[in-house]
Amino acid sequence: MELESLTCDNCGARLDISPAANFVTCASCGSRLAIKRTPGAAYTEVLDRLDRRTERMAADLETIRLQNELERIDREWESEREQYMIRGRHGSGITPGAGSAIAGVVGGLAAAAFGVFWMSMAASMSAPAFFPLFGLVFIAIALGGAAYTVLKTVLYTGAERDYQQRREEILAQLDRRR
Ligand SMILES: [Zn+2]
Repeated sequence: MELESLTCDNCGARLDISPAANFVTCASCGSRLAIKRTPGAAYTEVLDRLDRRTERMAADLETIRLQNELERIDREWESEREQYMIRGRHGSGITPGAGSAIAGVVGGLAAAAFGVFWMSMAASMSAPAFFPLFGLVFIAIALGGAAYTVLKTVLYTGAERDYQQRREEILAQLDRRR
């Protein structure tokens, strides 16, 4: 059977087509083509202008981009959460949470109470004037410490929520591509 030689309407590649065919898919660009025949000539016309191969490649690239994005935010979160960790005496990190915030506040208040006790003792013992002031400094540091623990917990909770939200979004996008 003699093959007709036509060119792709989309990319111009040569197409060898059986004279009986009405449709063809271009091997070069993936376009679906209709074969039009007039008494004088035959030509192709794009049916579906989407370049399927390019489309598929773009989809693959998008998937890779999302996977990289996921790895990146996981990595960034790992180092970010280090900043929020509460370091114990042995260097082990505790993630801030309700427990650590309560412990920080209770500890801070206990230390402040000790400062008040110190001040009243120093005042009653007619110690030098700067002596009670130690208590005041102590109270300030204790309350500052308690406030810092609470602030750290609030910031950490917000940052973790943002991270989880971003992660969910990327996972949902990846899910839709499967
Ligand atoms: Zn083509």
